[in-house]
Amino acid sequence: MNWETVIGLEIHVQLATKTKIFSGASTSFGAEPNSQACAVDLAMPGTLPVLNKQAVHYAVMFGLAIDAEIEQESVFERKNYFYPDLPKGYQTTQLEKPVVGRGSVVIQLEDGTSKAIRIHHAHLEEDAGKSTHEGDLPHGVSGVDLNRAGTPLIEIVSEPDMRSAEEAVAFAKKLHSIVTSIGICDGEMSQGSMRFDVNVSVRPTGSSTLGTRTETKNLNSFKFMEEAIEREVERQIDLIEDGGTVIQETRLYNGDTKVAKSMRSKEEANDYRYFPCPDLLPVIVTDETIDELRRSLPELPDARMERFIHEYSLSTYDANILASDPTMSVFFESSAARSNNPKLTANWMIGELTARLNNENLTFINSPVSAEQLAGLVARVADNSISNKMAKQVFDAIWQGEGSADEIIETKGLKQVSDSGALEEIVTDVLEANPAMVEDFVNSDEGKRKKKLGGFMGQIMKASKGQANPQQVNKILLQKLNELL
Ligand code: ADP
Ligand code: MG
Repeated sequence: MNWETVIGLEIHVQLATKTKIFSGASTSFGAEPNSQACAVDLAMPGTLPVLNKQAVHYAVMFGLAIDAEIEQESVFERKNYFYPDLPKGYQTTQLEKPVVGRGSVVIQLEDGTSKAIRIHHAHLEEDAGKSTHEGDLPHGVSGVDLNRAGTPLIEIVSEPDMRSAEEAVAFAKKLHSIVTSIGICDGEMSQGSMRFDVNVSVRPTGSSTLGTRTETKNLNSFKFMEEAIEREVERQIDLIEDGGTVIQETRLYNGDTKVAKSMRSKEEANDYRYFPCPDLLPVIVTDETIDELRRSLPELPDARMERFIHEYSLSTYDANILASDPTMSVFFESSAARSNNPKLTANWMIGELTARLNNENLTFINSPVSAEQLAGLVARVADNSISNKMAKQVFDAIWQGEGSADEIIETKGLKQVSDSGALEEIVTDVLEANPAMVEDFVNSDEGKRKKKLGGFMGQIMKASKGQANPQQVNKILLQKLNELL
């Protein structure tokens, strides 16, 4: 039997407001536990929530960015449950009337196609605090940190439109790109600024009814999300093929240990007893506010991608990567304007620079190689002053703070030899020094000769201390060898 995977995502996005959604306490990350929780966040009797206008505006901006319906009158409700990190005994959220209605997001796939994923809605809510556990029982200690309690979130709920882990990851990345591009979220996944719940089911290929789903909660990296989906799909298929049935449950996946386990089944699910929050008025968003927010939206990733394709003649693949991250976009445009070679700039950014930054946990904002320095390097590669191999060496030196490409090429004496007279001399010397290799080449049949060129190239590059222009050497070498045939 062939199986089809069906995936729907629920995504919590922390909004980048300075203060909490219902109080004036700071939302900044990493403070001393409980130093940023005020009386409202602690649910002291007699305190009342005051809605943060900026949080509403950010939610509306998201709605506008995905062309969604904006509900001009939305309502906060209380979702009642007990948990140590929830002092109020309920979470203030939206259910029946969320601020953002139906919309859609287009994802780009590796095979070059694109696909629209429908958004069911997005609602505003507050985050809970965090329970922390130190040491093992019986002598370990558990604590509650309420700094995060009351941080504004939007929860984005997709339709079950994704059919593979690849599509789900592309969708998650697209949302990351949108919320960081419009500046409503800092996108710091490792700090929990975006958290993904993945709903997964399988069904026989061709079937039009949905299978029973499980929900794996709180994934905070694209890699873990992909792993969690792939494992869950495999688990469900094995289970069904062995005669079992999937039960609707909430699961957890530990990315470090690669272990997935059941957290609770549907029978144990809470009855949240939602009701409209009597402390908060309905949220009214006027036409003027919507117009104003629409005008304030910066360029969106899709528009930027199209512009990169046309303005810089980039491939869709390159343009998609560069346009998806706003800091990368700024770096690219600034560097390409200086180097006058967008394609090569894109290659270096997507390849060497990204790899290096990721490796050392850095970003395009605090990159040791500036946009200007990369442009300097790209210009020297483009005009053949240095080979690709030398360029890597120069890149390393720029990274280490040794100066601009030109300065490094000068002090290290890395200039590529492109003078054809000098190159011809080196080639002739190498051929004369290796008569056995030459004879072997001449006596080989045509198919094998091509492979033998590498040996000569190696010798020539060595003789020139890596400075010979490889394309030119190749041409001269072929010419000289052909004369011997
Ligand atoms: P609930 O009302 O239980 O919260 P929803 O219908 O709101 O369920 O769906 C929650 C999420 O699960 C949505 O992202 C939705 O796309 C997804 N989903 C629903 N049914 C399935 C299914 N059978 N397989 C995969 N995902 C699903
Ligand atoms: Mg739901």
